[in-house]
Parts: sequence; C-alpha cells; structure tokens
Amino acid sequence: MRDINLCHPRLQELAKKLVRECTAQGLEIQIGETLRTVAEQDALYAQGRTKPGKIVTNAPGKNYSSFHQWGTAFDFFRNDGRGAYYDKDGFFDKVGKIGIEEGLEWGGKWKHPVDKPHFQLPDWGSTTKEIKKLYKTPEEFMKTWAKGDAGWVQNAVGWWYRREDGTFPANAWCVINRHWYLFNKDGYMCTSWHRWNGSQCDPEDGSGDWYYFDPTVGGPLEGACWHSRENGSMEIWTVDLENKI
Ligand SMILES: [Zn+2]
Repeated sequence: MRDINLCHPRLQELAKKLVRECTAQGLEIQIGETLRTVAEQDALYAQGRTKPGKIVTNAPGKNYSSFHQWGTAFDFFRNDGRGAYYDKDGFFDKVGKIGIEEGLEWGGKWKHPVDKPHFQLPDWGSTTKEIKKLYKTPEEFMKTWAKGDAGWVQNAVGWWYRREDGTFPANAWCVINRHWYLFNKDGYMCTSWHRWNGSQCDPEDGSGDWYYFDPTVGGPLEGACWHSRENGSMEIWTVDLENKI
C-alpha cells in the first residue's frame, strides 16, 4: 500500500512534515510503502530467501514483526530524477538526519539490514515485541487510533501530548491540567530556557522573549513559568484556567 493516510495519525503528520522539510532543503522525496498486509510482508520476506533478490526484511508476515504492518512505518524514495535509490551524494543520510530530528526512527541506523529508505515511530522501541504485547494484532491497535485517550507520551526525544484524535500541539502554548506548556516546532514539550516570539518556539532569527520551564516533576514550580524580557526583568506566573487544548 502506498497511502500514508492508512497509517497512524501521528505518523501521517510526521511524514507530511518530513516531505515539506526535505523539499525546503532541496531534497525531493516521495512516500513509498506505508501499511503492509500479511501477504505483502510475506512476499518481501521471501525475497533473498526463496525468491531472487536481496534480503530486505527480517520480518515474516504472520508474526507482525514489521512496523509497516502496524501502520507506524513508511518508506520513501528519491524523486528528483536521479534514480529512486541513487545515493552516491549522501542523499539518504541527509533525509535520515531530518527525520531523526523530527523524532522518527530511521532504518539507516540499523545493521541487519541497513534500511535507508525506512522511517518508523520510535514509541514502541526498535522491535515489535512491545506493541505485540500491548495490542496483540494490528487490527486491535488500529481501533485505538480514532478515539484514543488524550495524554502525555514519552519517546527517545522527549514528551509530547496526544490529543484524542492522535494529533498533537506543535509551536504552541497549551493549558493542560491547569498548567501552561510550550511545545516546540516538532511537538515536544519544552523544559529549561526557550524563546517564543508570538508564533514560533526558538525561532532561527533569535527573536522573542525567553521563558524558563521548570522540569522538576511535582516540584514547587511545576507548571510555573519564568518569563524574562530583554531588559532582564523577571516574572513568575502560574495559571488557573480550565483545561483547554
Ligand atoms: Zn520500511
């Protein structure tokens, strides 16, 4: 399947963002394989084993060991006319780096086999062991997508906040449990010092005021925020608003 809209809502957003960011940096890519059926995964597994070709996966279809079967992985290919997998100029490493910065896990970092055109959500680890334990089958997992519980999610990069529909705030202030939080452009919660210029978190032009976010969970300043203006004056404030996100 080649439809990113069949994938996990968060992966959809990250994939679309990756394409946008790559385009902005002059790297033309297109999304290839997304969600994979058992039959499709079996056909890939046969390649290099019972069928000709190079081994491209270690995951047979029936045991759901590829994140493609869970809708949390996608592949991309090069779309600038130089060949879909032409890589003599380090193209795939550049795209891999952008994806990692977004918070995706990149197959180019793997060893057996190296899979440079592959990205996946890192939330359940590198293998499908954890996700299988939690949800048993991709069908059960997908039921949780449409109306999941809203809440905090932590991965290798940091904390992000999942709304009920699977989307998440990015480049935004939000009140959650009566506390203000600032989310950076990738949707991760900010701690310690960050800049905000009214529309962007940590803008590249260095504009905006500084804010300090105390990372101590349950500490006296949790949810409090220090705000520093250019003149060095400081204020500490908390909120008492209803939850709003
Ligand atoms: Zn893949």
